[in-house]
Amino acid sequence: KGINQRELEDGLRNYLSVSHLSLFSSGTTALMVAIRALGISGDVITTPFTFPATPHALFWNNLSVVFADIDPVTMNLSPEAIEAAIGPDTAAILAVHVFGTPCDWQAIRDIAARHGLRIIYDAAHAFGMTDQNVPVGTLGDVSMFSFHATKTFHTAEGGALSTEDPELKAR
Ligand SMILES: *Cc1c(COP(=O)(O)O)cnc(C)c1O
Repeated sequence: KGINQRELEDGLRNYLSVSHLSLFSSGTTALMVAIRALGISGDVITTPFTFPATPHALFWNNLSVVFADIDPVTMNLSPEAIEAAIGPDTAAILAVHVFGTPCDWQAIRDIAARHGLRIIYDAAHAFGMTDQNVPVGTLGDVSMFSFHATKTFHTAEGGALSTEDPELKAR
């Protein structure tokens, strides 16, 4: 028996323990739309250790990509490197939970709060992950999941955005 889009959205929202979820045709299109919906301009700090779609979604939105280095153990963006890369035009941080290991989200949250930055998570690898009982899809302003055939849960092609912000969900 097949299920319709609404049933899949509801099921994923429950499974991932997020407040709002939207389905897309791929993780890449989801990320493009997430960044567009934030309405940001300027520079975005991201990681060079990722799939090309991560920086491509920034280029597509006419944002400048600023690469910061990764932590040698987790391979996720280093909070110290993020802070060192912040400049006058920095608008957001786009972090990836590499291989499903959650980023140092508390440090990233504190940096973003101090500098007034938005946070986008590329959670393409992190389906169903939690850290200290916090579901990764609730972190930051918005998170992207990929349902490509190579990922933990897949629909052959597909993706989703999750957010706790009802206004962002509507946009
Ligand atoms: C797979 C992946 C994407 C892109 O997802 P698609 O569904 O293939 O468009 C983006 N970022 C990372 C880190 C990925 O692994």
